[in-house]
Amino acid sequence: MTELNFQQELTGCFGQPVSENPTQVMIEAAYQHHNLDWRYLTIEVAPENLKAAVDGAKAMGFQGFNCTIPHKVSVIQYLDGLGESASVMEAVNCVVCRDGQLIGENTDGKGFVESLSELTDPKGKKIVIFGAGGAARAISVEMALAGATAATIVNRSVERGEGLVALLKERTDIEASFAKWDGPFSIPDGTDVVINATSIGLFPDINARLDINFDTLTSSMMVADVIPNPPETHLVKTARDLGCPTIDGLGMLVNQGVIGIKYWTGVDPDPKVMRAALEDVFSGQE
Ligand code: NDP
Repeated sequence: MTELNFQQELTGCFGQPVSENPTQVMIEAAYQHHNLDWRYLTIEVAPENLKAAVDGAKAMGFQGFNCTIPHKVSVIQYLDGLGESASVMEAVNCVVCRDGQLIGENTDGKGFVESLSELTDPKGKKIVIFGAGGAARAISVEMALAGATAATIVNRSVERGEGLVALLKERTDIEASFAKWDGPFSIPDGTDVVINATSIGLFPDINARLDINFDTLTSSMMVADVIPNPPETHLVKTARDLGCPTIDGLGMLVNQGVIGIKYWTGVDPDPKVMRAALEDVFSGQE
């Protein structure tokens, strides 16, 4: 007789607001595809309840969970340890239970580097990043750890831009500089990778454009956008028309999910299944 088992392994996402976060769709698509009897729950957690939620996850034997706005920094005080990039960035988006210890990782930047690595080796690359928020911080730190040699942070607000440059100089070996974004920006000659890490172009403001002199983009530059919805942004379209290799925001989103599933389950999931599940959800929004 087969032994019956009604107990599923638990993972999830803690955030507030969280109801529009689509991560569950791609993670559970992967669980089903790989016959994993696991669940990924989308859970609204208010900041004042975060400690109780983390303790509760530990008590209930969660294998791990993602943290999103506003918990990426505040969750650190409740964890047992941090992975390398999470400790450099001081931000956690993925908690993993290892031998009963909750360890904070940051997979946002790793997801980006993974997408880029499918096209080129990040080592030795000179990058230009638009934005200096959470996504820009994750990408620039991970690119530095992957061996990129120079990063220009282009940002509207000076304080955030200079803050990120200071962090990169203090904690990584990348040569970092700041450029204030107060008019059409010209991409410097010799740039290898151009990255939009701002929220410009995110649904519903899908016609928003980056203030760039597009004639300074050349086909030798790789162009990436973090916007997952819609993945076909003005930047991605324009760069592709110019002959640049491009990476869209779904690539990064899917790859950070792939890394999370690997950490939690040990299974290397099929990114195609996850991407298709997300595309399905987003296509319903148009
Ligand atoms: P933050 O709020 O931390 O940072 C937003 C950044 O965008 C800031 O640098 C801000 O500049 C800049 N910005 C916003 N609007 C404008 C504008 N109109 N003109 C110039 N600059 C602008 O957000 P996050 O970094 O967390 O997220 C940014 C984007 O990345 C989001 O759209 C999110 O969906 C996406 N993302 C995608 C992921 C993926 O897996 N694909 C993962 C994580 C995030 P300033 O400092 O001047 O305000």
